[in-house]
Amino acid sequence: MCEIQIWLNRQDFEYDIYALVRSFYPGRQTEVHRMEGDTPPEQSMRPLGEQVFVVAWSGGQKIYVECRMEGQTPVHIEDVPDSPDDRIAVKNRLKQLLYQTLQAFTGRALVWGTLTGIRPVKLAAGFLEDGMDAAKVQAYMEETYYLSRQKSSLCVEIALREREILDGLDCRNGYSLYIGIPFCPSICMYCSFSSYPLEKWKNRVDTYVETLCREIRASAPLMQGKELHTVYIGGGTPTTLEPDQMEKLLDCLEEAFPLENLWEFTVEAGRPDSIRREKLAVLKKHSISRISVNPQTMNQKTLDFIGRRHTVEEIQNAYWLVREMGFDNINMDLIAGLPGEGVQEVEHTLNEIRKLGPDSLTMHSLAVKRAARLRLFSEEHKELTFENSSKIMDMAENYAREMGLLPYYLYRQKNMAGNLENVGYAKPGKASLYNILMMGEKQSIVACGSGSISKQVYPDGQIERCENVKDVTQYIDRIDEMIERKKQLWNR
Ligand code: SF4
Repeated sequence: MCEIQIWLNRQDFEYDIYALVRSFYPGRQTEVHRMEGDTPPEQSMRPLGEQVFVVAWSGGQKIYVECRMEGQTPVHIEDVPDSPDDRIAVKNRLKQLLYQTLQAFTGRALVWGTLTGIRPVKLAAGFLEDGMDAAKVQAYMEETYYLSRQKSSLCVEIALREREILDGLDCRNGYSLYIGIPFCPSICMYCSFSSYPLEKWKNRVDTYVETLCREIRASAPLMQGKELHTVYIGGGTPTTLEPDQMEKLLDCLEEAFPLENLWEFTVEAGRPDSIRREKLAVLKKHSISRISVNPQTMNQKTLDFIGRRHTVEEIQNAYWLVREMGFDNINMDLIAGLPGEGVQEVEHTLNEIRKLGPDSLTMHSLAVKRAARLRLFSEEHKELTFENSSKIMDMAENYAREMGLLPYYLYRQKNMAGNLENVGYAKPGKASLYNILMMGEKQSIVACGSGSISKQVYPDGQIERCENVKDVTQYIDRIDEMIERKKQLWNR
């Protein structure tokens, strides 16, 4: 039987309600039910499980919220004036009410308050753009969304820093280019991307690169008259490409797109077991300005557990090799909440990272969204915890600041361990513009490769998307269709 039940008699705000309830009860089975009329269906509730939540709506005049536990009287009932003209005000009030009720029910507060979206910084940036000063934005976010003081302050700090970093960039007249390479040396236990093990797919990589080049050549003319500001080659693991394949891809990209206005060119090397001197030489030759070497953890036991199939020493060697080859902007990604890792293990990782001294660091909170293998793994290894907490994220922030890295972008994902966030920290001048532009939805992104998503951002902020198929074989076979879809997106 489902543990958490939500009853609604209107569709408005269904997702907001669902997401907020889930934030209080991550990992619990939750269902949304429809009901007729204004009053909660007593009968329907009786046979239900441990917890019952009801959000009912009355006749268009008022919104009525009620939460109850089976066998107990309702904890909280209140009316919200329903104003069809001010949807945002109604949504905010409704979420506040639901939050208060759930807080009373569970005895817990959420650091992100009622916010369930993935871009809290975009909200803060919007208020700043509208002319609100920083202190007012912070106060507004605490009063309206119940953000903790720490999170409201972080959001405003990042929004201000982003504004400073983007100063001088004509976002509206520019765009970014994303290229996806879906292959990896092995598949990590927690992976929620569509990545393919290289060993099994190596005979298809050449065809994939050829197809990708076709898409790149067809995409460039769609952006004529606009400036290309950033390029990001991600994945997967782009450095699974052999030097000649990488060379072919970069040659094609340089021939197709004008690079004279480029501010940043990132290649996510990612897995250290894919990084070799010859590959780095190709990247250097093509003026790649930013590289990621991603350890995720510096604990060997965890690396083994999660199927990374490389050693801590390989991470260190790869990092120093990238430095030796002259790259002066190296990012490292870490994940908090990996199996068996608590404060001590993450602290060990942070100490090891400090010895390396990267130019930027991205601290992820493990998202267990679709990681079926990870769930299976956690069932088999019940002795291991999947812990992430504010304490761990705060510790990471302190380490980053001590290393001279300041927070510059932040986003949240669904089903994150501890309902927390991902934060990028960077030395001054080393922040990734692509990350800021993409997360702030500040300009269009042309994306090429399987599973990539192109986004057309219109001057009024509206966004239209076009997705490529995730399956590599389908991508190769249906490339003409992908190109046609993209043409339609940009020629609307
Ligand atoms: S390196 Fe990243 S994309 Fe590749 S399998 Fe691991 S988590 Fe997935």
